[in-house]
Parts: sequence; C-alpha cells; structure tokens
Amino acid sequence: MELLFREDAYLKDCEATVVSVGEEGVRLDRTVFYPMGGGQPGDSGRLKTASGEEIRVVDARKGENHEDVVHILEPDAVSPEIGSKVTAEVDWDRRYRLMRMHSCLHLLCAVVTGDVTGGQIGEEKSRLDFNLPDTQLDKEALASELNRLITENHSVAERWITDEELAASPDLVRTMSVKPPSGSGKVRLLDIAGVDLQPCGGTHIRETGEIGRVRIGKIENKGRQNRRINIHFDG
Ligand SMILES: [Zn+2]
Repeated sequence: MELLFREDAYLKDCEATVVSVGEEGVRLDRTVFYPMGGGQPGDSGRLKTASGEEIRVVDARKGENHEDVVHILEPDAVSPEIGSKVTAEVDWDRRYRLMRMHSCLHLLCAVVTGDVTGGQIGEEKSRLDFNLPDTQLDKEALASELNRLITENHSVAERWITDEELAASPDLVRTMSVKPPSGSGKVRLLDIAGVDLQPCGGTHIRETGEIGRVRIGKIENKGRQNRRINIHFDG
C-alpha cells in the first residue's frame, strides 16, 4: 500500500483500487488517509465509487503489518467491490486542524524541558504530559514562547535516518510513551528548523505560521511528577 500522506501531507484525495473488503474495513492500493498513531487520530472522509456513490469512512487504523491502512466504514455501509476504482477523500478541514495541532505540540516539546509521557491531538484541544518534578509552569510565559515560535514561521520538514543513527543519538527521542516509527531500518524525523528535531510519523504543516495563535488551557497535575499541558487554538 502506498502511503501518500507520508510524501505529501496536503493531499486531500487520490484515485485508488480496492484491494480487500472485510469485517474490519477496506484496504486500498494507495491512500491519503492517516491511520491513528503517535497521538494523532485517524482520518475520516469518504470513498467515492465510479457510479457516484459516497461511502462514509469514520476512522482509519493501521493494519497488522503497519504499512497498511484499514479504512473503517460507518455501520451498515455497503462496501465497494474488490478491484473497483474509488476516489479516497479525507475530511480536510478536520485533518488540517489536526496537522496544525500536531506541529504545535512539537513546538511545546521545544519550550518545556522534561520527557513527554503521553499526549493526545484533537481538533479543538490537544495535550501533552511531561515528567516534571518540582517545576512551576507559567501559563502566560509558555503561551508567549509558543506564539513567538509560530510567528517566526520556522520551516517544517521531514528527513530519514537509519536505526543505527537513531540509536547513536538517544536524546532525539522525547516521547517515552510513543515509539518512533522504525523497524524498516530507517526512522522518520520531523525537523522544525532551529527549534525541534524528533522522530515522528505524523502529518505536519510546512511552516509554523500556519498554526495560528494558540493559548494554554489548564495545566493539571496528573500524579506526583506528571504535568498535563492543554493547548487550544486562540480564535
Ligand atoms: Zn509528532
């Protein structure tokens, strides 16, 4: 399966051929649907058949071999025919918000010291948990640091390194709870120029300015060392 979102996160749709249809969902030979992973939710959208029917996709998940995406249809949907051509189209407004939020969480990693112990990306609100014993976090200072990095419009790009190169630089891994996508001998890094560099398989915007203004929501204590920082779009 060709994972087109890996090369171009801005692709909203693609032509594809239905490879398999089953209880769990539909597999295509190529897709623009990002499957849930790394804290980023799976895409929703639709499959359009040649005869003009629209089949609702409510979620996308990784298949067993992890290089595979399963498109989960809404209950009672009629599956497309195996071998037929469809247009696969993501709900772009939702996906673009998730991309902006995901990139913003990378900026938050750069602003807050401490290992990341968890996170969740949402359309309206996202959060990251940090292992931060005895630290007072200043909401306003955090927000203005983030908004400065956003306004500075740093470029965001991916690059690949080998498993050996990653093993030689363990400090690249900020997230203890999310394993970087590896195993195929190479690892995808997300590079926010001059700000943050870490392994990530998610979809991202091209420049930090696309994120737009954000504000810090609640900062919660989750356990003795765990600080949960919530982020919202501001306006
Ligand atoms: Zn990421």
